[in-house]
Amino acid sequence: MKISNTLLNRCRSACELCEAPSDALHAYLVPARTEEADDNVAVLCDTCMQYISEQDYSNANYFMFLTGSIWSETPPVKVLSYKILSRLSDQEWAQAALDGAALTEEELSWANSEQEALAGAVVHKDAYGVVLQHGDTVFLTENLNVKGANFMAAKGTKVPKIRLVSDNPEQIEGKIEGSTIVILTKFVRKGG
Ligand SMILES: [Zn+2]
Repeated sequence: MKISNTLLNRCRSACELCEAPSDALHAYLVPARTEEADDNVAVLCDTCMQYISEQDYSNANYFMFLTGSIWSETPPVKVLSYKILSRLSDQEWAQAALDGAALTEEELSWANSEQEALAGAVVHKDAYGVVLQHGDTVFLTENLNVKGANFMAAKGTKVPKIRLVSDNPEQIEGKIEGSTIVILTKFVRKGG
């Protein structure tokens, strides 16, 4: 997609993620938006464009600039930063940036729209309908009897780094007091 003058002004001829000045800038349409409008795209340098279009997030440290770009005043940049941080949420700094992020409801649903479309029917949501992802931290909203482990997990217990049960949208796995257990999504709230 061609970069409009409006976009060039907006990005000040630099990558909107890593802020590197560049002559070779690309307009990246942030999924799952499909209309090539300025409000739907982030302007990226060659390097960012390559990593992101190949969905290569193995070099996590490269993306540490996201802790800044998540605060962008440009919604597509904010949403794209959030999406990539979600992929890197096993990194402490990325999870911290996600926890501190201030996205509007509309920006959040944009950020989650691709994931929801990909997952089809299997979307894990917490007790309040917020979409859960691998690596999220959740809190219990009820006291739960943990079968087999013979203890009561108190309401408010923090469960870090959950796993989604891939074929059941109502179940996640998490570690409480050293035991990995299955927890029903309706009894958790996504943490922050
Ligand atoms: Zn860049």
